[in-house]
Amino acid sequence: MNAASLYIVATPIGNLSDISERAIKILQEVDLIAVEDTRHSGKLLQHIGVSTPMLALHEHNEDKKVQDIIDKLLAGAQIALISDAGTPLISDPGYQLVKAALLAGIKVSPIPGPSALVTALSVSGLPSDSFIFEGFLPNKSSGRIKKLGALSAESRTLIFYEAPHRIVACLQDMLQIFGAKRTAVIARELTKTFETIKNDSLENLLEWVQADTNQQKGEFVVLVQGKEKDNTVVNSEAESILNTLMQELPLKQASHLASKITGIKKNTLYQIGLNKK
Ligand code: SAM
Repeated sequence: MNAASLYIVATPIGNLSDISERAIKILQEVDLIAVEDTRHSGKLLQHIGVSTPMLALHEHNEDKKVQDIIDKLLAGAQIALISDAGTPLISDPGYQLVKAALLAGIKVSPIPGPSALVTALSVSGLPSDSFIFEGFLPNKSSGRIKKLGALSAESRTLIFYEAPHRIVACLQDMLQIFGAKRTAVIARELTKTFETIKNDSLENLLEWVQADTNQQKGEFVVLVQGKEKDNTVVNSEAESILNTLMQELPLKQASHLASKITGIKKNTLYQIGLNKK
């Protein structure tokens, strides 16, 4: 182990074989493991042959427990943080602890591994160059609609976590806000026996999930394709670029070049140029 005192350790999101060698080594070597639920993590630790003592750190006691853990770290203890599944802090506790540790000058080291959002994105078939993660949407439909409404013009791939008892209502609200034809992906039970990944329009996904109650069970990541950029709308900046180029070049070349610069359709720019002549 190096000089780090607090390790943020990712654990599997279903398949226990996904734990890394380095994660096992660190969990064996630290003095204490902060866990969300001692019974849940006890099973993982038993599976990998780790008997390091545990301490509970969950969303209801994080405020109170942080100082206790910081004191132990300052006294020289090496501590690892894990959550029930995946990467700690990602829709899981740990933010307060990491913030306080950094403020106290304690070195914090990541031991990377699975996270449901990246796992889902990697097989979704949706654009992965740019995306936003929104975690869990509000429980109530009114709150969900408001949140989704604020995201309706988002062009990046949208990633959400969802609970089984809300999956149908969530898809209904998404359909209402994003439209029936918007492409989305349901990634259910990733790395587990009933792993299912389905890419389709929101209307088809909703129909499919409603028709089969098995598809309403387990853990879900829901991904929604971002809104397509309208490349037929010409703004004043694009028009000014076209004007400048038209002064030096024939219209065909000017519209071709302006299209490359602005991303607006060549034919649209060509038509505007024609109207100006
Ligand atoms: N920290 C975790 C991570 O890095 O992904 C997420 C913790 S959050 C409390 C749990 C949610 O993550 C689940 O309700 C589900 O939306 C998603 N999730 C976790 N494991 C999953 C899996 N195997 N398949 C699909 N979604 C999963």
